[in-house]
Amino acid sequence: MVDLKSQYDRIKPAVDAAILSVIEKTEFINGPEVGAFQQELENYLDVKHVIPCGNGTDSLQIALMAMGLKSGDEVITPSYTYIATTEVIALLGLKPVFVDVDPKTFCIDPTKIEAAITPKTKAIVPVHLYGQSADMDSIMAIAKKHNLFVLEDNAQAIGCDYTHDDGRVSKTGTIGDVGSTSFFPSKNLGCYGDGGALCSNNSDLAVEMKKIANHGQKVKYVHEVVGCNSRLDSIQAAVLRIKLPLLDSYCDARRKAADFYDNYFASIEGITTPFRDPKSKHVFHQYTLQLDGIDRDGLSKYLAEQGIPSMIYYPIPAHKQKMFESFGCENQDLQVTDWLTKRVLSLPIHTELDEEQLNYICAHVVAYVNNK
Ligand SMILES: *Cc1c(COP(=O)(O)O)cnc(C)c1O
Repeated sequence: MVDLKSQYDRIKPAVDAAILSVIEKTEFINGPEVGAFQQELENYLDVKHVIPCGNGTDSLQIALMAMGLKSGDEVITPSYTYIATTEVIALLGLKPVFVDVDPKTFCIDPTKIEAAITPKTKAIVPVHLYGQSADMDSIMAIAKKHNLFVLEDNAQAIGCDYTHDDGRVSKTGTIGDVGSTSFFPSKNLGCYGDGGALCSNNSDLAVEMKKIANHGQKVKYVHEVVGCNSRLDSIQAAVLRIKLPLLDSYCDARRKAADFYDNYFASIEGITTPFRDPKSKHVFHQYTLQLDGIDRDGLSKYLAEQGIPSMIYYPIPAHKQKMFESFGCENQDLQVTDWLTKRVLSLPIHTELDEEQLNYICAHVVAYVNNK
C-alpha cells in the first residue's frame, strides 16, 4: 500500500547523517532535535503549542486526560474510524457515543451530533478520515452551543488545509481545542518508528498535556497529577525534521496519484471515486473507492494475484467490536457506517507511484469489473 523504501532512498544521505549525529551525541531522549522539531511543526501548522509524544494513540489519550473528563462522561465520535480513536475513550472510563458519518466525506455527520448530546456529553472527537477534513465549522458551532471540548483526530490528515465559511484557512488539527496526530511510518508524515504529537492554541490545555505526557510533573520529581510516559525520541525527531519540509510535496504527490485514479475510473459503472469537499484540500492518506454491484472480495483477490495490494479500512466498525460489548452498541442504527463497511476498498496510494504503476493498477481494476 505504501513504498517507504523508495521514499527513503531519495532522502537517504540526510536521514542517515541525522540519525548518526543523534547517536554520536547520545542525545536519545528530549534532545535538541525534539525541541527543534516541535518549533518547526508549530510554524508549519501555525499553532501556538505542539507537544511531541510517543504515538498517535497516546496523543488522543493525553488530550482527553487533560480535558479533565470524569468516569462515565460521554464522548461523541464516529464508529467508522481506526480503533485507537474510540479505544482510548473507553480506556479512560468514558463512554464512546457513536454518531454516523457523512456518506460523501466519510467523516462524522454534524447533522446527527445534536441528537446524541446528553447532560453527560463532554467532548466531540471528529476524525479527518483518509486525509479530508470533517465539517469543522458546523462541529465547532455545536460544541460552542453545548459547551463541549473538540479533539480533532488528525492522524490521517496532517497537512490538510480547511477553508472556513468566512474564507479563513486553517490546518486541520488546529481548529478544535486540541489536535492529535501520529507519525506512524505509513502516515503522511511518517517517522522510522513510533511517534505522535498534540497541538493546541489553548495555553492552559497545552501546559496540562505537557505535564500529563511527563508523569504529571512540571518540576522534576514533583508529580501533580497521574500522567503517563509518552515521548518522541530524538532519532524520530531528527527524521521528522528532514521530512516536514517535504510534507507539502508528499501531499501533492498523493493528490496527483488520486487525480489519475479519479480520471481513470470516472466512467466506470459501479465505482464511486472519493468525494472532494471544496472546503478541504484532501491529502489522500487513503484512496478509497465505493463499490456497487462489484464483488469486493473477488476484486481484492484478483488484484492480489496481479501483485496489487488493496485494503478494507475498516472491515468492522467500532460499534460492532467485541471490546465495546458492555456499551450495548452493536445493534445501533448507523446506516452509512454499516453500508460503507461493506462497500469500500482502498487502493495503493503514496508518494512514489508513477504513471506506469497507476496504469497497471487501474487497468486491472477495470479488467475485473468488465469481466464480471
Ligand atoms: C494511525 C491512527 C491513530 C493511531 O496512531 P498510532 O501512532 O498508531 O498510535 C489514531 N487515529 C487514526 C485515525 C489513525 O489513523
